[in-house]
Amino acid sequence: MSCDYIALATPGVQTLKPYLTGKPIEELERELGIRNIVKLASNENPLGPGKLALHAARQALEQLHRYPDGAGFHLKAALSEKFNLRPEQITLGNGSNDLLELIGRAFLNRGDEVIFSQHAFAVYMLVTLGCSAKPVEVPAQLFGHDLAAMADAITERTRVIFIANPNNPTGTWFHKHALDAFLARVPEHVLVVLDEAYVEYVEEDGYPNGFDYLGRYSNLIVTRTFSKMYGLAGLRVGYAVANPQITNVLNRVRQPFNVNAPALAAAQAALNDVNYIEDSKSENTAGLVQITEGLTKLNLHAIPSVANFIAFDCGRPAQPIYEALLHEGVIVRPIGGYGMPNHLRVSIGLGEENERFLQAMQKVLA
Ligand SMILES: *Cc1c(COP(=O)(O)O)cnc(C)c1O
Repeated sequence: MSCDYIALATPGVQTLKPYLTGKPIEELERELGIRNIVKLASNENPLGPGKLALHAARQALEQLHRYPDGAGFHLKAALSEKFNLRPEQITLGNGSNDLLELIGRAFLNRGDEVIFSQHAFAVYMLVTLGCSAKPVEVPAQLFGHDLAAMADAITERTRVIFIANPNNPTGTWFHKHALDAFLARVPEHVLVVLDEAYVEYVEEDGYPNGFDYLGRYSNLIVTRTFSKMYGLAGLRVGYAVANPQITNVLNRVRQPFNVNAPALAAAQAALNDVNYIEDSKSENTAGLVQITEGLTKLNLHAIPSVANFIAFDCGRPAQPIYEALLHEGVIVRPIGGYGMPNHLRVSIGLGEENERFLQAMQKVLA
């Protein structure tokens, strides 16, 4: 092979590294010679999928020879009803990750600046580089977004700003007042993507609901997902809500059938599965307390989290601790790639899974 195909890629893609995900659990169990691995690594709903969603997905399987409804008519109607939106404001995606990509593809030119926070969700960097745009990473404040500094970073070249509330992997959140002050400073031609992947878990006073801001800010795009609290990560469904013109643009670059049929059906069912929603929230609230208290007993500092995961400081390089935990049958997420080499992120599991994690931590640190 005499041609260098990497050199043929666009400038941004040349600088990208593929996103690494973990090995399948069964493979890991085989390699390590252990069983009953507990996976607390990807912020999934530990209850498993809801019954209503599962039933709807199964029914949809009967029609697998048909293309899905490319317009997502029923799911958009259900979202509109539940959140008092209009279908013309909604774009559906193959996970909300798909929507972040579509925003980049539709709006980012080579060399445009994209602002996001230090320790922010990794996909913002991937989207930016994938479009050969220029990442502008703003230092975090106590691991959270410094929205004032992010507004200060806006230049003539800025086209998109990604903010996550709460943020992954830190679990930090910002107050209504901070969002108000920030949005008031962003010019109309700069798009603000407010990523609310964990919104369903947050109960804090003063936490802003992104949908409440759409009427006032035409440059705002709110993204949400069915992967986290709704328990459908494997099906890949997310949605973006914005003004109809932005939605129109996103729909131009979207694959015509980007969300599959079982996913559309399951998401619609999950949306109004009130028992599952309630159970998921209370399980998470209990787990947050359980893990926070357990880590405190181990003298480990956790970043206060309002989501379904906790990042904590190991006080030393976290990679060896991650590996030792693996041998104890507990998978967590090292976040050195997020500039946090001494931290690990653990997803909230069921009570007994959280206990397994805490006991493994104690053993590994001893
Ligand atoms: C998990 C996550 C997403 C997207 O997940 P999808 O499965 O693609 O919907 C988006 N943003 C943040 C901050 C996340 O943690």
